[in-house]
Amino acid sequence: MSENKTLCKLKNTNLLVIVRKIRDSTKWASKGEDGVLLPDTKESITELISNMRKYLIKDISISVEAEKTTLFQIQSTCHPFTKSLIRSLRELKEQLQEEFSNSEDISETLNKLPIKPQDELFKRVFGCGQQCPFCKVPCEAGGKEHEQHHAAVHRPQGLGCYMNVDTEKLVETLCTTEVHSESEFSNTDTKEEWHPYKKYTDYYPDWHIPPDPTIEASDYWKFVLVQYNDRFAQEYEAKPADVPEAWRRITKEQALKGLKDAFNIKGTMNNPKKCIHETRL
Ligand SMILES: [Zn+2]
Ligand SMILES: [Zn+2]
Repeated sequence: MSENKTLCKLKNTNLLVIVRKIRDSTKWASKGEDGVLLPDTKESITELISNMRKYLIKDISISVEAEKTTLFQIQSTCHPFTKSLIRSLRELKEQLQEEFSNSEDISETLNKLPIKPQDELFKRVFGCGQQCPFCKVPCEAGGKEHEQHHAAVHRPQGLGCYMNVDTEKLVETLCTTEVHSESEFSNTDTKEEWHPYKKYTDYYPDWHIPPDPTIEASDYWKFVLVQYNDRFAQEYEAKPADVPEAWRRITKEQALKGLKDAFNIKGTMNNPKKCIHETRL
């Protein structure tokens, strides 16, 4: 917002919308129900103000009390009053425009807003807060209201504390691969009973994990597992995962590129499986 006077431009755009609305309301209000200009008397100002109140009712609420006080102060007749009103509106607009271009205090403006943009952005990014039951990747479906949780790229399950019961090694495979395989899982949700991955929806009906026969995770998560294999193992009190040799050759640059590729395509999230393939092209 601090670059190119973005905030100033935004304020100006909103100001023009508001000014136009008030000006339109004045024009609309200066005519009676028959479409004829209100007579140039002091009394018709009452009708003018009441009409304006009706026109602007969705945008601003003017209390009856405020309306009365205003009327009490007005000494002019209707037509010069309307002209003065439009003139002071123009002056006010110019005054505010000058104020906007002189001061660029972004935090002050943000503090005054009833809805905080940073909170709205956070909610959008944070989503519903649910995590994949296997790899713990956060749900990426926008906002809170969706029928199924999904994520474009699942992580090696070991990062979500899944280990092989026999070898105690962290599992390097992806959820998208497991749900395609004959493997089984067991955890506290299944009361430690074995259950086929293919039927994961028996336990997690609100998750959509598209089956993907290819064994590749995004480069980013492969890189993370290779780099921090021992530390994850230590943290989860398991043995490090057997990572494929090819994963060890992934550079930091490739890892970051993988992350960028995966999230630049958020617009086509309706088909997460397709997204992953597109990322690899
Ligand atoms: Zn997962
Ligand atoms: Zn969700």
